[in-house]
Amino acid sequence: MPVFEYAPAPESRAIANLKDHYKPFINGEFVDGSGEPLKTINPATEEVLAEVGTASKSDVDTAVKAARKAYNGVWSKMPGTERAKYLFRIARLIQERSRELAVLESLDNGKPIKESRDSDVPTAAAHFFYHAGWADKLEYAGYGPNPQPLGVAGQIIPWNFPLLMLAWKIAPALATGNTVVLKPAETTPLTALVFAEICQQAELPPGVVNILPGAGDIGASIVEHPDINKIAFTGSTEVGKAIQREVAGTAKKLTLELGGKAANIVFEDAPLDQAIEGIVNGIFFNQGHVCCAGSRLLVQESIAEEVLEKLRYRVSTLRLGDPLDKNTDIGAINSAEQLAKIRGLVEAGDAEGAQRWTSPCPVPDRGFFFAPTVFANVHQSMRIAREEIFGPVLSVLTFRTPDEAVAKANNTPYGLSAGIWTEKGSRILWMANQLRAGVVWANTFNRFDPAAPFGGYQESGFGREGGRTGLEAYLNV
Ligand code: NAP
Ligand code: MG
Repeated sequence: MPVFEYAPAPESRAIANLKDHYKPFINGEFVDGSGEPLKTINPATEEVLAEVGTASKSDVDTAVKAARKAYNGVWSKMPGTERAKYLFRIARLIQERSRELAVLESLDNGKPIKESRDSDVPTAAAHFFYHAGWADKLEYAGYGPNPQPLGVAGQIIPWNFPLLMLAWKIAPALATGNTVVLKPAETTPLTALVFAEICQQAELPPGVVNILPGAGDIGASIVEHPDINKIAFTGSTEVGKAIQREVAGTAKKLTLELGGKAANIVFEDAPLDQAIEGIVNGIFFNQGHVCCAGSRLLVQESIAEEVLEKLRYRVSTLRLGDPLDKNTDIGAINSAEQLAKIRGLVEAGDAEGAQRWTSPCPVPDRGFFFAPTVFANVHQSMRIAREEIFGPVLSVLTFRTPDEAVAKANNTPYGLSAGIWTEKGSRILWMANQLRAGVVWANTFNRFDPAAPFGGYQESGFGREGGRTGLEAYLNV
């Protein structure tokens, strides 16, 4: 079949209003942080986008004091109906500035503009709208007649969905009456600092939201700070474990959203063309930088050849390149470090004897790119079947019976998500009950809705974000 050619359709980067310099946001103002400034780059070109001032340990203390003052003084005392108005305002401002945020996110992170525009930014706004609705109804949420906030929340987020992870963290914290000190990831701080401008535009009382760019040590200072009541972390299992050790024995409440190695399970009766789209979306969305990515495809042996053939054809039509081009499907890998990690694991796959197929798509000479890759003949003992690659690399395993599919799917230290593809409703329900995963999608994958709780089992962490259940993480229940 012919592959259609498209003319380039780049989004204008002028809309991003990129500044030369960005600053930490403390107590409602942009301040010179006393940390060493960092340079954030565009991973698609390796050019420096901006210099970003960072926080030091003493800035963390200043931010926590500001958050405490805002908590005691106004935010925890304000009626829910009033807090809701701020959340609605923030949601609308995210919508108003959505093109700016989408372009800035794609520049700083490398993700395709069609994803930042149609997924990240609208879902971030949706989280504020959804939680605005809860702010004045907390007494009906099932957590007692008068649920109380925890106090100051320290929140640390990764680089894969910078604005969306911020929204997942800040929206429920504010709706329930907590104040926030948040650290964005070192490689993607820019949209968080535009969000700080949005807080100013919304006239959010000073200190309710504080944004501290910086490296891992600033994250650690937030975790250690004695006047923080709750830590919410999304990132690697390794750092999550370190945080859990640090918080152990303190009164701090903790939620961890860590890595994953999700099974996407395709039965022989599945609608195959839809399943192929779901497999592609499951692993190639956001370059595979997704904690709940469907990175292990479990396919029933009887249809394995057919699925692989269809999959390779479909993947060969994905367009890799300029994240700002509206036709791009696969953008840049976020950092040289992450690219090296992906390459290392792919080499391990070759060395352990899996059969590698890589899309023949052209790859730009500059920037961090990795062509979509599918490994067949993968065995459960291989590193590419066990470790999170966090890149556009799919490992394909086979099974014969539903029991074998369950056993293989659950053979992982993680447990964040899973997918089931079959025509049979009773099998979907049976499988969903057997799978040890926080989210199980049926005949779809990577669907996110603020009303649906998200979170893991085992080494994927604990606690839920989103939905009524997600409120619990920010309430004294
Ligand atoms: P990470 O090192 O866990 O980083 C996540 C966040 O924690 C970042 O803001 C990071 O700051 C901060 N941090 C680092 N060390 C810290 C410490 N000791 N105490 C407190 N905060 C600390 O994850 P990563 O480097 O971004 O990615 C590594 C791997 O994690 C990936 O390859 C992937 O397997 C996994 N990951 C999972 C998710 C997920 O959504 N579950 C997201 C991203 C990554 P810096 O940005 O300055 O390092
Ligand atoms: Mg960057």
